[in-house]
This record gives sequence, structure tokens and C-alpha cells, in this order.
Amino acid sequence: MLKGVTLLTGLLTLTMCIALPFFPRLRSWAIFSTDTAVLFEFDKEAENNAGEFTGGVEGTIEEGTVSMDAQLEIQIPSGVDPSSITIENDYLTRTVSIIFPDGMTDYFSEYGVRGSSDHIASITYYKQGTDGVLALGLDKVYELSSTFEGNGLYLDFTAPKDIYDKVIVVDAGHGGRAPGAVKGGVSEKDIDLAILLELKELLDEAQENDPGLKVYYTRTDDSNPSLQNRVNLANGVEADLFISIHNNASNSGKFSSLQGTQVLYSESYEGAPSSKEFAQICLEEVISSIGSRSLGLVEGDRIYIIRTSEVPVALIEVGFMTNREELDKLKTEEYQEETAQGIYNAILRAYDEGF
Ligand SMILES: [Zn+2]
Repeated sequence: MLKGVTLLTGLLTLTMCIALPFFPRLRSWAIFSTDTAVLFEFDKEAENNAGEFTGGVEGTIEEGTVSMDAQLEIQIPSGVDPSSITIENDYLTRTVSIIFPDGMTDYFSEYGVRGSSDHIASITYYKQGTDGVLALGLDKVYELSSTFEGNGLYLDFTAPKDIYDKVIVVDAGHGGRAPGAVKGGVSEKDIDLAILLELKELLDEAQENDPGLKVYYTRTDDSNPSLQNRVNLANGVEADLFISIHNNASNSGKFSSLQGTQVLYSESYEGAPSSKEFAQICLEEVISSIGSRSLGLVEGDRIYIIRTSEVPVALIEVGFMTNREELDKLKTEEYQEETAQGIYNAILRAYDEGF
């Protein structure tokens, strides 16, 4: 009975740990429709980064065929050296930014974009400092190929699944000003990230050996992407597997004897194999790699990224930061490495088992 109560409080804590930092965001998501979200983000970023932001100007694409067999032809402003142009593809916000150094104030009055507007949800031009930024909002996540020819920049967009056989998204919980659980001077966000970076080393090597494998990460530094952006990445690339790495805390936040590994899954995801099957694989492989106690699988639809995931998702609560013994282990590189190895083994096994 006591054990049951402890486990229950553990479960509650786990939910709070994941859900609490996210609640303030829920309201702002509701305000932005998917169509306008991209534009809002441009505005916000530009305001943060540049003092002289005067508002982005929306453009249109002149429909028509483009030479070079590309989807879009973007006119390069006269005087701009093509080699000075930067192209950024932000998978998280589904935004391609074409940055002209010393860009003009108004791009669309003199220049334009031609081609097919397929996949392009919005097109905006704004000044950011001295740079001019032409921002394309995409309807999904695409890989980009670019060619310069004459005074044109030619862009093509390809869905990851049309390039890669295996596509995975890995997420580390929290980040930035959202530390997750904090115990003994250690923030959960840092342990989550450390495990992700160990896993990334293994996956980088796997990608080198298998050109058909592609892994996307919601963060590889101390940033805090919105939950919507995290899940949009997994859905936008149509990931085979979506893995989120977290650590747990007791209900009171105080040190307790409660320890062990739990994996959350989606009850609502209807694909086969199921999210629950993937979660089970993660649980078994992580436990076998780090030797932790199994606290089993947990229904996770209360969690935004689980509920809204359209791909098989597993959220791994590796251990309890409120258990002294487990916290001491979680802090070590060795344990982080072993955890990463367990998750890596789970990925291999999931593909073996038909994911
Ligand atoms: Zn967490």
C-alpha cells in the first residue's frame, strides 16, 4: 500500500514536472493560427534583435515555371554578391531565411520571387540591423537545395521522407529559463541535454555509416523551443520515432526513496506499431543499459507534445533527481553515456521491429 502511494505521488510529480513550465505557453499558442504563427515569430525575432525594425512586408510569388528546374527563383538585388548571401533553414519554425547583407528597405517594389507557391505558407521581407531578410514560411519541414545562376537564387524543397528512409526526432526537455526540476544545484534541463548530446554522438556516427538515416534535434544547446515547435518538428518531418528525454522529481520536490525509470506514451496515437510499443522498447533498453528500477509505462496524453504527436512518441523519464543515489548517478558522464546507449539500442530495436 505504502509503495502504491509512493508510486502514485511519483506519477503526479512527473506530470507536474512536465506540465507546469508549459502552461503559460498554452494560451499564446491558442492565439496564433498556424497561418499567422510564422509571421508573428518573424516580428518577435526582429524586434528582439534589431532596434530599427519597421515591420515585415508580405510578398507574393509570381506563379510560373522557373528555369533551372527549381521550384522558386528569387531575384538577387543588384550589387549583392551571391557569395555574401546566407540561407538558413530553421526546421523548428519551418522558416527559410535568405539574408542579404546591407539589404534594401523594400525588396518587393524592385524585385520578386517567381515559381510555384506549393509548400510556401508565407513570404515576408524585413530589415534586421543592416541585413535584409527574405523569410519563407513553409507548410511543413523541407530540406533545401540552392543554386545561384545569373542574378537568380534557385531553391528547391524536398520532404525529408523523400530523401531519407529513416527519420528520427530527439528532444531534450525544458531549456533556457525553464530548468525543469532543480535539485542539489542541478537543473533537469542540463541533464536532459547532456544525455541528448551523448546520444547525438552515437547517432552522428550512425548517420555517417547510413546515408538513409536522418536525425533532427529540437535543441542541442540551452535554448527552450516552444512545445508547439518541438512537436511540429516531429510531425513536420513525419518522424518514424519521436523521443523526448526528461528526468523526474518527487511530488514534494524533496529528496525521497522513490527512484527508477518511467516511459510515457500516447494513448491517442492510432498508428501501428503503437507509441506504447515504442515506449516499452525504450523502457526495456534504457533499464537494461543503466540498471535502474522499472516504474513502467505511463499514459501521457495529458502532456502536450505527446497528445499532439502524429508519430510514435516515447517520453523517457530516466531517473529521479529527488533520489540522492539516482541524482548522483545522473550527474556523471558515465551514466549519461549509458542512458544514451540504452536509447540508441531502443532505436535500433524499434527499426528491427517494424517502425
Ligand atoms: Zn522534465
